[in-house]
Amino acid sequence: MVDVSDLVEFQRHLDGAHHIAITSHRSPDADAVGTSLALARYLRSIGKEVTCLLPDAPDEALDWMEGVDDILIFDRDPGKAQEALHRADVLFALDYNGLKRLGPMKDAAESATGTWLMVDHHMGPEDFPTAKVHDARCSSTAELLWGVIAGLGGKDVVDATMAGLLYAGMMTDTGSFRFNSVSAETHRVVAAMMDQGLNHTTVHEAIFGEQPMDRMQLHAFAVVERMEVYPEFQTAFVHLTAEDMERFHYRPGYTEGLVNKALGIAGVKVAVFAKQSSDRVKMSFRSVGQFSVRDFAEKHFDGGGHHNAAGGASQESIGVVMARLRGLLPEIAAGIAEAEGAEA
Ligand code: 5GP
Ligand code: MN
Repeated sequence: MVDVSDLVEFQRHLDGAHHIAITSHRSPDADAVGTSLALARYLRSIGKEVTCLLPDAPDEALDWMEGVDDILIFDRDPGKAQEALHRADVLFALDYNGLKRLGPMKDAAESATGTWLMVDHHMGPEDFPTAKVHDARCSSTAELLWGVIAGLGGKDVVDATMAGLLYAGMMTDTGSFRFNSVSAETHRVVAAMMDQGLNHTTVHEAIFGEQPMDRMQLHAFAVVERMEVYPEFQTAFVHLTAEDMERFHYRPGYTEGLVNKALGIAGVKVAVFAKQSSDRVKMSFRSVGQFSVRDFAEKHFDGGGHHNAAGGASQESIGVVMARLRGLLPEIAAGIAEAEGAEA
C-alpha cells in the first residue's frame, strides 16, 4: 500500500521538475519495463519531459509494449544515456533498490545530480533516494505504481495502454496471480484497471500466447539433459552452457520460466537455474515455503531479491558454479529443515 506522506513528498519534487529520467534494472523484466513506460506516460501527461533508461535491452517478448523502442539503452548508447541522467532534475528508480543492479550503468547513475525517487518492492532498499514508495510485501512494482499514479490524481490518465503495461508487470511478478504475495489489494488494483479499460486477455496473449520453436526445444533439452534432481536434499538444479544456448539460437527471454520447471518437480522445495552469459554466470533461485533463497543468493552469489524468488551472479565458469552448488546441497537441506522447524 502507498503512504500518503510519501506521495506528498513525490508531489513536491515533481512540481519543480522539468526533465525526469526513469531507470530500471539490468535484464529488465515486464515489471521493470511496464512500469517505466506507464510512469513515462503519466509524467508526460502532466507536462514533463521524460527519458526512460535501461542498462541493457529488454527481451523481444516485450516488443509489444508501446514506447519500448524509445527507451535509451545504456550499453548501446552510453554517451546519450549519461547525458540524460545528468540533465534530469528528478530520477526514478523503479523495480530495484540497489545501484549495483544497474550493472554497467551504475557509475553514470551514481554521478547524476538530480533527486532520486524510488518505487520498489524488493527487500532491503539502499538509502540513495530522497523519497520512496517501498513495500516488500507488495507483489509487484506495477501494483505500487498504480497506487502512486492514482494517489497523485492521475487515475483517469490510465487508459487501456497504460493499464496493459502495469498489468503485464503484475501478472508476471505474481506467476499469473498465483504466488502468496498476491493480496486482496492486488485484485482490487486489477479491478480498478479494468474499469479504466484494461483488456487482460490481450496482455496474456502477448506474453504467453505463442513462442518460437527454438525456445520450446531449448526448454525440452534443458529438462531432459541438464536437469539434476536431488530428492534427498529436496532440491533441483538446471543449467545451460554457452554451447547449449548457441545450439538453440538463444535470444533474450528464452530461459524465462525454466527455473519453475525445476521447482515444479514433486518433492522439490528449492530450485536453481544457472546459465552462462557473455561475461558471467547468471542464476535464478526459487523456493516454496520457508527457505529464503534471498538469503542464500546474498550469502553465496552476491545476489538478492525476494524470500521465494531471487537472483545472483558469478564470474566463475558454469562448470565451477555447478560444482559449488552441488557442494552446497547439504547446506540447503539443513536450511530447509531449520526453516520448517522454526515454522512448526
Ligand atoms: P529472476 O530469477 O526472475 O531474474 O529474479 C528473481 C528476483 O530476484 C527478481 O525480483 C529480481 O529482481 C531479483 N534478482 C535477480 N537477480 C538479482 C541480483 O543479481 N541481485 C539482486 N539483489 N536481486 C536480483
Ligand atoms: Mn518486480
